[in-house]
Amino acid sequence: MNREELLKIKQKALEDHIPIIMDDTLEVINKILEENKLNTILEIGTAVGYSAICFSDYLSDTGYIDTIERDKERVIQAKENIKKAEVEDKINILEGDAVEILPTMNGKYDMIFIDAAKGKYPFFLQQAKRMLKSNGIIIADNILYKGYVLGDYNKHKQRTAVRNLREYIKLTTEDPDFKTEILEVGDGLAISKKK
Ligand code: SAH
Ligand code: MG
Repeated sequence: MNREELLKIKQKALEDHIPIIMDDTLEVINKILEENKLNTILEIGTAVGYSAICFSDYLSDTGYIDTIERDKERVIQAKENIKKAEVEDKINILEGDAVEILPTMNGKYDMIFIDAAKGKYPFFLQQAKRMLKSNGIIIADNILYKGYVLGDYNKHKQRTAVRNLREYIKLTTEDPDFKTEILEVGDGLAISKKK
């Protein structure tokens, strides 16, 4: 991977107010990825490719990432960025709405990273569980959504998002097949390991 380009990609994304993964959140995920080289990663929410490029560094030699993005402009930028970072052979972008694409997919993944529409997290979780390998891990970003999720923010205009994020936490923590941790890192991270 071209690290110099990665820094430029990050800088530009921040200038353009693209909600890329926060540094402390990335650090936590990198530690998990360092522990065992993964073969397959599915990401829901590519944006401009920043997180996928970061994760690609930890793949096994034959590993790859499938990543879904519905915004056409961002898909174009992500493709450019992935090329600049010299990781085209490791990242496939699936263009379209994950709500429509996921049910058509049948891959098996070692890690699934959920980082898209908050109101759809329970649906993304259901699809992720279906495509997770045994011993796989599901990670969801922005799970505490600026603190609204743990606080008393029922009247907030993001009510639907908050309700669905709370539902996601309930579904993962109560699932006996998973061990889930909710970390107050970045915008909140849910890490669910399959038992
Ligand atoms: N993972 C990226 C940031 C993703 S931001 C990074 O850390 O670098 C969230 C992205 O998800 C946005 O670009 C948005 O367009 C996309 N998104 C939101 N809902 C989606 C959906 N239902 N299907 C596909 N993409 C979606
Ligand atoms: Mg995020």
